[in-house]
Amino acid sequence: MQLKTVRNPILSINKTKETYHIAFFCCLYKMGPDTIDKLRELREPCRINNYPVNSQNIKYETDIVMTFRLSGNDCYAGSIFQLKGRNKQMKKAVVLHSGGLDSTTLLHYAKSEGYEVYAVSFEYGQRHDKELDIAKKAAQLAGVKDHKLVTLNLNAWGGSALTDSDIDVPDYNPNEDSIPVTYVPARNMVFLSIAASYAEVIGAQDIFIGVSEVDYSGYVDCRESFIKAMEAAINQGTVAAVENNKPFKIHAPFQYMTKSEEIILGTKLGVDYANTWSCYNGEDEACGTCDSCKLRLKAFEDSGIKDPVKYKHL
Ligand SMILES: [Zn+2]
Repeated sequence: MQLKTVRNPILSINKTKETYHIAFFCCLYKMGPDTIDKLRELREPCRINNYPVNSQNIKYETDIVMTFRLSGNDCYAGSIFQLKGRNKQMKKAVVLHSGGLDSTTLLHYAKSEGYEVYAVSFEYGQRHDKELDIAKKAAQLAGVKDHKLVTLNLNAWGGSALTDSDIDVPDYNPNEDSIPVTYVPARNMVFLSIAASYAEVIGAQDIFIGVSEVDYSGYVDCRESFIKAMEAAINQGTVAAVENNKPFKIHAPFQYMTKSEEIILGTKLGVDYANTWSCYNGEDEACGTCDSCKLRLKAFEDSGIKDPVKYKHL
C-alpha cells in the first residue's frame, strides 16, 4: 500500500446543524486505485461515490475510514472524526435562482459549500410562469432556508423577446454574431442590485449568480468584468460594506465552466434536472429549437448524461 500523508487535511466543517458538528479528516493518504478498491470492499458503508465529501453527507460518529476522489485521478483515504460542540452560525448566501439549469445547480453548489441558502427569483414579466413554478419546487428540493419571489414587471417597457409579446423568440441561429433579441436589458444588473438589498437586510455577505461566459449567448452582463464591477458598486452603495466593514462578494463559480461540466457537477451534488427549465417558450414540452434549448441539449450530450426533460423537436 503506497501511502502518503497529505498536509492540512481538514476538508470540511459540517454546518448542517445549528448546534454542533465539526467534522474533519485526518490521516489522509494518497492511494493507488487497487488499494482503493480493496478498501471499498471493506468499508462499503463509508464510501460516498468517489466524490469530495461535503458537510451534508458526513453523518458518522467517529473514526471512519472512507475513500473519495479529490481531483483528477488522485484517490485518497482518510479518517473522519466528529467533534460535537456548539457550531458557529452558518454563513448566509443569497442565490439568484430562475429554475434553470445553471441556477438550480448553483443552489446545490452553495449548499455544498456550507452556506445557508436564501434563494431569490424574479417575476419580471417573462413570457411564461413555467420557470417560476419549477424554481419554487427546485428551491424546496435543494432545501433552501428561504425563497423570495420578487415582482419587477420589466415588460412595462419590454425591449426583449422574453418580456415583449410583440417580439418572437427566434430559433437558434449558429451564424448569429450579434446579441440575440432574447437579451433582457440590464437584467443581471437589476437582479444583483436586488440580491444586494436582500443580503444586506438578512446579514449575508455572499451573493451567488450562475452566469458563465463559456456556453452563453453573448450577453454582456454574464462577463466577469461586469460581475466584478457590480461587486465594487455594491460595496460602495451599502451601509454594511461602507460603514460596518462587511463587504459583499459576488460568487460566479460557473464563470469559466462549460454547461456540460456544470451538469456533471450538479449530478454529483444531487440536482434533479427533470425539475429544471431552460426553454424560452413556456409550453408543456421544451421547444428544442430556441437558443437556450440548443445550448442545453448540446451540454447534456457533451456530458454523457441524459437530459430528463421532454422536447417537442429534437
Ligand atoms: Zn426552447
